[in-house]
Amino acid sequence: MLDNLEFDRLNSIIANSNSGIYIVQGGKIVFHNPFFCALTGFTSQELQGFDFLDIVHPKDKKLIKLLFADEYKEIKSKPSRSFTFRINHKDGNLRWFKSNVSLIEWEGKPALLDSCFDITQQKDVEQSHIDEEQNFKFLVNGFEDMVLILSKVGTIIQTNRATYEGLKVKEQDLILKNFSGLLIPSDRERVKKALAMAYTGKRMILTLNFVSNTNKTFPVEARFFGGLWSHKQVVFVTCQNITERIEAERALRLSEEKFSKAFESSSVMMSISTLKEGRFLDVNETFLKITGLMREEVIGVRSNDLKLFSEFHRRDELKKHILSGAKVRDLETIIYNKSGQALTCLFSAEIISIQQKPCLLIVMNDITARKRAEERVQQSELRFRQLSELLPEMVFEANDKGFITFANNYLLDLFGFNDATINKKLNILDLFTSDSQHTVKEYLQNSYSRPELQSVELQARSSKGNSFPALTHIIAVQTGKFIDRYMGIMVDISERKTQEEELVKAKELAEEASKAKEQFLSVMSHEIRTPMNAIIGTTNLLFQEKPMEHQLGYLKALKFSAENLLVLLNDILDFSKIEAGKFKIHNTSFNLLEIAEGVFSTFESIAKQKNIKLEMQSDTAIPKLLIGDPIRLNQILSNLLSNSIKFTEKGSVSLSIKKIFESKTHTSIHFAVRDSGIGIPKDKIEDIFREFSQVYSKKNHRYSGTGLGLTISKRLVELMGGKLELNTTLGLGSEFFFCIKFKKTTKKEVLNLTPKIAKQEVSIEGFRVLVAEDNEINAMIALKFLKSWGANAELAENGLQALEMVKTNSYDIVLMDLEMPIMNGYEATKAIRELNDSKKRTLPIVALTASAMIDVRSRITQTGMDGFILKPFKPSDLLEKIFFFANKKQ
Ligand code: ADP
Repeated sequence: MLDNLEFDRLNSIIANSNSGIYIVQGGKIVFHNPFFCALTGFTSQELQGFDFLDIVHPKDKKLIKLLFADEYKEIKSKPSRSFTFRINHKDGNLRWFKSNVSLIEWEGKPALLDSCFDITQQKDVEQSHIDEEQNFKFLVNGFEDMVLILSKVGTIIQTNRATYEGLKVKEQDLILKNFSGLLIPSDRERVKKALAMAYTGKRMILTLNFVSNTNKTFPVEARFFGGLWSHKQVVFVTCQNITERIEAERALRLSEEKFSKAFESSSVMMSISTLKEGRFLDVNETFLKITGLMREEVIGVRSNDLKLFSEFHRRDELKKHILSGAKVRDLETIIYNKSGQALTCLFSAEIISIQQKPCLLIVMNDITARKRAEERVQQSELRFRQLSELLPEMVFEANDKGFITFANNYLLDLFGFNDATINKKLNILDLFTSDSQHTVKEYLQNSYSRPELQSVELQARSSKGNSFPALTHIIAVQTGKFIDRYMGIMVDISERKTQEEELVKAKELAEEASKAKEQFLSVMSHEIRTPMNAIIGTTNLLFQEKPMEHQLGYLKALKFSAENLLVLLNDILDFSKIEAGKFKIHNTSFNLLEIAEGVFSTFESIAKQKNIKLEMQSDTAIPKLLIGDPIRLNQILSNLLSNSIKFTEKGSVSLSIKKIFESKTHTSIHFAVRDSGIGIPKDKIEDIFREFSQVYSKKNHRYSGTGLGLTISKRLVELMGGKLELNTTLGLGSEFFFCIKFKKTTKKEVLNLTPKIAKQEVSIEGFRVLVAEDNEINAMIALKFLKSWGANAELAENGLQALEMVKTNSYDIVLMDLEMPIMNGYEATKAIRELNDSKKRTLPIVALTASAMIDVRSRITQTGMDGFILKPFKPSDLLEKIFFFANKKQ
């Protein structure tokens, strides 16, 4: 127990205490000291009997109720009796109290003693810290940059949204982790140093590389600086993602590089000069090359001082123009190079900024050469137009679509057009009638692959609708792959056409006349040959019938004249064929030496009679079989030998045949006929090859002949691809020679036209021969000869009879005349060749023909006959051929 004095002293302490002291019992303030009044703002009277909860701030009422419940059970269980709570001050403001409670007994009952003091101020400071931190967080969460608060060793205390979102992690995963762990390993050491420096108050800036949770690295610019956070010394770090900046810097660097490369390597002239004065800061190589200036002469110098531009006085104008934002593009400008030559350039200018100063970038393209070319084109265009006006033809030019861009006056006049028509899109097609348009259209469509429409005859149509024939030639002019334009020439050929038509008519008439002549000759030859056959045949028969001595002379004259007449007839026929251009060479395989020997032997007896030496030199190296016309070769050689013998009185005549060339497929043979005869005067050499010409006049009947032989021979040699030539000396002799190239062959053709048989072997005794011949005399002659040779000959008067006789009798050979009534020789042969009996079917059939024409010969072969005998025949010839063909088949 306290004594009174002690009590008083205690009272006085309580009364003067700087802390509020009060006692609560049963929820009511049962005691308080004056300072408590000061703390709460209430007077003692007001406080007396107050429910303690009345002064407690509503937010803390729950807490107080909890503390007071169950006889202060909560308080009793707590080791610390100190707690803070809020009260409502009488002035209506909130106050923070810090209590220090103890449980006591007051007037015999449990009560709560509290000594408290106002900590509102301290609380406010604390709150403001919390607010600050929260505001800070709120603020930094809004930042795009990453913000981190780190301890001295780099432990993360705080971060913002940008950080954890940027690193793709949750916020809590970052707190208390080490900052270095977020970086690529090589950055860690630098960060350590930066942290230490920042901690001592230095600001540090580093470029670092974060690694995100998804393993992506990205660069940041990190700023480190020291500071206080909740009273603690920390390091603040802000990191700005600089991926884009680096990219942009790279792009910038690239574009700068590009620009400088483009500037340097450009094929056009480029310069950079100050905008104000036009002083050159830089120029490229092309600029120097074209102007011929040295770099030192240009850099730092004004363009006006260099007298570069012809219109230098317009520089200010240009400057204003550019500054107003207008474009300066491809202005044609004249500049002068170092040697004072004027160059035409396309001038473009633009303002660029170099170190924040406006400069002029000038680009110039030297088009002097192009200009010159253009001028040349213009000039040549002009010349073309002038020339086209002088031409007596219609000339036009059209664009790639076929629309006419130019037409000369001649065309305009003829078509009834004028320049206005052309301006109104006149197409090439419009110049023609619809039929001809088709051709032109097709040409225009395919002119890329076929650029020329070559002189075709088309129908042109004038504006008045009348049409005329026009020879039209159009060319497509191409530039590279494309058609640039068309150029055309048209010639009015109305007059020429009429002339042509007249000519065609004249030609037709001439042809008809020549045909008639040919027909006449052909008929005549046949008609003449038949009686000739009779004359020669009968003469031959008379010879056989032992004529009297004086008759022998007449017969010889008769035979000679008839044979000459026959030669003449053959020559005239050949000549008329050659003249008509109808003469053809009939190529077959043949043995050249055999032919030559044959000709040679024919002339042996005649030469002997004239006492002339006849020689032959042949080349053994000549291939056996050649392809050529043996009959015509025979004819040429015969003619030349016959002439030589005819015009040689003494000495010799020789035939020489030499190989002068041989390849795998061909051989060339040189033929020459030499004589020691009368020779030919120089001035007559040309004449003798002309038809009907002879050196000695007709009156001088010393040498017979027609003057056709050489003409025919010359033409025949030409038809065989050679040339008949002549060396001659008057009085000493002549040499006729030619060369022919033959194809070589190994195949011998079946038809043998010139069988050669050793004379002693020939006998047709007992041969059964059927002669089909409608001409009585010819038949009689043939039968007589056959009988005289011991053959059994029978006569059929026409083809049909011959066929019947073949069917019923058996023969060794049939001599078949071709022209017969009822059934001709061809038809009869065909019918025999179709018979069932194989022996009859293959019976040798030899044609008897008066015609030596090629077409007859080939028809004979085609019909299936084995050969032919030309009428009138030489008896020996007939005998040999019958023998040959009749034996051949057996
Ligand atoms: P033809 O002999 O029928 O008169 P050709 O045309 O064969 O006709 O010959 C024309 C002319 O050329 C002969 O008439 C003759 O004057 C001359 N002639 C031809 N060959 C010889 C020759 N070998 N020697 C001399 N003159 C010749």
